[in-house]
Amino acid sequence: MKAHILATTAIAFALAGCSTMQEGNVQSASDSSPAAAAVPEATGYFAQPSTLPFHAPDFTKIQDSDYKPAFEQAMAIHSAEIEAIKTNPEAPTFENTIVALETSGQMLNRVATVFFALTGANTNDTLDAVQAEMGPKLSQHSDAITLDPVLFERVKAVYDNRAAMSMTPEDAKLLEETYEQMVHAGALLTPAQKEQVKAINSSLSELTTEFSQKVREATVAGALVVEDPAELAGLSQSEIEAAAKLGVERGLPGKYVIALQNTTQQPLLPDMENRATREKLFMNSVHRADRGGANDTRTLLAEIAELRAKKAALFGQPDWASYVMYDRMAENPKTALDFMQQMVPALAATQRREAGMLNEQIRAEGGDFEVQPWDWYRYAEKVRKAKYDIDENAVKPYFEITSVLENGVFYAANKLYGLSFKKRTDLPVYHPDVTTYTVYDADGSELGIFYFDPYQRPSKRGGAWMSNFVEQSHLYGTKPVIYNVLNIPKAAEGEPQLVSFDNVNTMFHEFGHALHGFFADQKYASLSGTATARDFVEYPSQVNELWATYPEVLRNYAKHYQTGATIPAELIQKIEAAAKFNQGYDFGEVVEAALLDMKWHALTPQQAAAIDTPEEVDAFERQSLEELGLEVDLVPPRYRSSYFNHIFSSPAGYSAGYYSYLWTEMLDRDSRKWFLDNGGLTRANGDHYRKTVLSRGGTMNYFEMFQNFAGRQPDVTPMLEARGLVGNDPTAEPATSDGPLPPETTGDNAD
Ligand SMILES: [Zn+2]
Repeated sequence: MKAHILATTAIAFALAGCSTMQEGNVQSASDSSPAAAAVPEATGYFAQPSTLPFHAPDFTKIQDSDYKPAFEQAMAIHSAEIEAIKTNPEAPTFENTIVALETSGQMLNRVATVFFALTGANTNDTLDAVQAEMGPKLSQHSDAITLDPVLFERVKAVYDNRAAMSMTPEDAKLLEETYEQMVHAGALLTPAQKEQVKAINSSLSELTTEFSQKVREATVAGALVVEDPAELAGLSQSEIEAAAKLGVERGLPGKYVIALQNTTQQPLLPDMENRATREKLFMNSVHRADRGGANDTRTLLAEIAELRAKKAALFGQPDWASYVMYDRMAENPKTALDFMQQMVPALAATQRREAGMLNEQIRAEGGDFEVQPWDWYRYAEKVRKAKYDIDENAVKPYFEITSVLENGVFYAANKLYGLSFKKRTDLPVYHPDVTTYTVYDADGSELGIFYFDPYQRPSKRGGAWMSNFVEQSHLYGTKPVIYNVLNIPKAAEGEPQLVSFDNVNTMFHEFGHALHGFFADQKYASLSGTATARDFVEYPSQVNELWATYPEVLRNYAKHYQTGATIPAELIQKIEAAAKFNQGYDFGEVVEAALLDMKWHALTPQQAAAIDTPEEVDAFERQSLEELGLEVDLVPPRYRSSYFNHIFSSPAGYSAGYYSYLWTEMLDRDSRKWFLDNGGLTRANGDHYRKTVLSRGGTMNYFEMFQNFAGRQPDVTPMLEARGLVGNDPTAEPATSDGPLPPETTGDNAD
């Protein structure tokens, strides 16, 4: 899917601010938190906030060798601060416990934010080594605090007294989050229950490790082996040579080996001319881990699902999904399942329609078979090339990077929110390619600092992300210092820096996260800006992509770098039409995976206990998808249960979380419709969105937030329309059965 906020930075923040700590393993905290009489005095660069404007990090003063001692010192200081909270002779109060926890670990936060920014965007061997060494220590440190029973007693005392306290809604939210996170980690369990959870965690840790090892081995063993290169007809010479080389490496000299990728579909399938080879490769993929024998994961995953259901029961929850979704917008599996089930009729109809189109293509080429999953992308690719092919080289000259940023991304932010931007050259950066801007609010006051780091380089990991060097907080008096990191290929020296349309979209997307951070208006850093639920955080960033193709914005930035001509409307229409192609498959396989994830994790312990054998696992998987009416034989899930690493390869992982991608897209598309229905790119619309959503951080119920913005609850229809699943094809079925569809939106191009 789209780019994401850097996970490790999120963890770094979580580690540094107790009230945003993530789920930890239930384990003894007795061997940590050295009781110190006083908080040790901090030394070195990170001891104090930066003295640069906005407390921006001073990269001229930080050495790679500073991080390890700074982490160690910062953790010791944090532990001493926690000890002081625990041993405070005064009765627990909101200030001396909850706020004290929130404000503890500030030095650790300063080290971690800078360190994880660099390990993501500009790492080296020294930083990698520090990360490998400090990672486990940071997570032990965080667990020791979340699981501290004495600390929890104080938190609980404040929480139990909440009805009698006078608090702002933000105070109340901070209290609730602090309490709930500790409860979620096991603070309320009896000693006997804690022992049971510990035993389950340790089994889960073993079983999920075993699952991921088996999937890895199954994926290696599932490679396609052929003897005659004629079977690989259609592949390029270099692909065939690579297959021969892999044969030698695998001890099969003279044979050709095609390794499996993680997903059900395999990238080389579209090019393979030999239908029997396609079928063999596909079958190897889809049955990699369910053929019996050592690499069969089915009984293992059934056991994982059952243990998770049992663990949830110890926490008083009906199923695992309810346990892990406590801090999500969707909150429970029923909401997520109902949401996905609404898409099924339109999706299944689109899958059948697309299959019909591909069958026509097959007939046209003289084939006398019906399309199967192993044929799908081969024929889809032919139809796409005939109808929707976009010549990147015709598009790119209109997208010069600085124009996209300043005349596109910044321009839209100016029209919507009144923001203005001024490039600055005085702030130190961690790489010469990074540029910085001061962001000014509509009234001319300074809002924050924006760092833009666009180019690919070996020291940067893949993808694109946003994060903060400094979080906005009224308590600290800090304004946001935000960076966007992307991986745009850098042009040769002297060449114009042109970017693809995908990159344009990513620039708008990441700046959408930045706006969420810049408009933060919170007292507490841990509730500020993008510190929101996993199934919410990608929503504002996706909404900002709307403006990339909005005519008024396009006219302002998408100008040919040589002629100055504005990009032709047909090119944009072509790009948008291509985005709706093959969605029955592309979107369908993701929805199916998300459904499987949620079905496995919505089982009660009794239901889970009834699924043991490989056959029962197969039957459950098939029934979960088929009873909804999905065309499972045409479009299998992106991952079948037996190799669904996202949800079964670590104790929690993304289990009961795969739906988040779809959920935020629903919020996004519905919000775009609101903007377009209400006049599009206007200050009134921008200010309304800022007031109701972008400035709210994680301080309130997300449904309430959406209601305040749109005046109603989110609706799935605009997403289905945007995906081309309803609304633009006479054969498409409506998404829901409650009445006629609203009039079709004119898409992102509406003026
Ligand atoms: Zn994102």
